[in-house]
Amino acid sequence: MRPSRPVPAHPRSLPCSFPMRRELPPTAGLPLAAADIRKKCLVPFDEGLSAWLGIPLPILVCSGTAALIIALTTLKRRSPQRSRILLPAYTCPLAVLAAHFVPGTEIVPCDTAPNSINLSPEALDSQCDERTLAVVVTHLGGRVADVETAVCIARSRGAAVVEDAAQSMGARSGGQSLGLFSDAGFFSLAAGKGLTTFEGGVLFSRDPELHAELAEDAARILSCSGWKSFLWNARRIAELLLYGFFYRPQRLALIYGDRLRRELDRNDEIAAVGDFFTLDDIPLHKPDAFRLRLAANALRRLPDFLAEGVRQARRRIPVLLRAGAERVLDDFPGDSGVWPFLMVLMPDQAGRDAVLSRLWRQGLGVSKLFVHALPDYSYLAGRMSVSADCPSARDLAGRMFTITNSPWLDDETFARIVEEGLRP
Ligand SMILES: *Cc1c(COP(=O)(O)O)cnc(C)c1O
Repeated sequence: MRPSRPVPAHPRSLPCSFPMRRELPPTAGLPLAAADIRKKCLVPFDEGLSAWLGIPLPILVCSGTAALIIALTTLKRRSPQRSRILLPAYTCPLAVLAAHFVPGTEIVPCDTAPNSINLSPEALDSQCDERTLAVVVTHLGGRVADVETAVCIARSRGAAVVEDAAQSMGARSGGQSLGLFSDAGFFSLAAGKGLTTFEGGVLFSRDPELHAELAEDAARILSCSGWKSFLWNARRIAELLLYGFFYRPQRLALIYGDRLRRELDRNDEIAAVGDFFTLDDIPLHKPDAFRLRLAANALRRLPDFLAEGVRQARRRIPVLLRAGAERVLDDFPGDSGVWPFLMVLMPDQAGRDAVLSRLWRQGLGVSKLFVHALPDYSYLAGRMSVSADCPSARDLAGRMFTITNSPWLDDETFARIVEEGLRP
């Protein structure tokens, strides 16, 4: 028998009437405004963040990953005999690469709780011990993760807790900013994470002593030679300005959608989602004043932008649930996250794959967050010590898709996503 041709998972032509040239971003990034470039800034970015979020004057660094590297470096110096970093098994692969820059540490993935981005308390309880340097709690996709349980378990073993709020700047719990519930917290300013400097990070600790140590380590770790730093920042400025130019539905296909479709044609979902990273993606340098001035100006528009995103998400969640989504990841009462996108769980993987086969290529801001649970990325295999299975994280990776919460996704198009994507 002749082998039949494999059926592509994401067929080229679809019985679907969405116009192809309009391209929505997968997350709700705050668009750059030309005025941000021209205007002088009245309040420096770090002071603006501190006032808005009620956090200590933060340490501004070159990326979220750099912030994590610095936090882990400081914690390692405080507890040199400890080596393990427990990471939720469904998170950004960059967090795994961070350990490479902190000698004497290793990443251990820890399963999530069922249908949740939270660490599984049982898995954490069994994996966290006297070897554990830090537990990373990840506030994925703007959601407020359960830090309290992790802090409770980690404390009892003498381990630290770091909040990865890379995707959640502006989210609060009980009125307090994320990052203030553990030893240290960080936000990312990467492209696609709300307010962006193309690459950037914000690091802080509620503990003044630890905060001072983080600042010292940041100064040391980010002190690469003047030339190298100059060249990186020149590149980032160019990237940010280009991104600002292309970040609109009429142009986004050129820098995002066309490449996404090309990678899906090649059946390379990891490349399509942008999940493949190398150590070269993690330079360590100080951020430049030009981009920080832009960020300071953009910051003034951010609270209203995020508030509108909350209203939009709140309207749309019930619609998705009525249409057959099993769950849309949400916050507990008292927590108020931000909404870069909606994380939608379908009843099973076949249902999720069906949705993506209809919508992923359509330029509608429908995508996957991360393709796999951490142990399933073959390129990360040598960088982790996998000591336990992670069925819930795998299940999450298999059943989740995301819908952008960009204001450019209007109600009419959202309704069509629901109709065409979630129909049985
Ligand atoms: C993006 C991201 C990071 C890394 O931040 P960068 O600024 O891209 O280095 C870390 N953790 C999570 C959950 C992320 O989404």
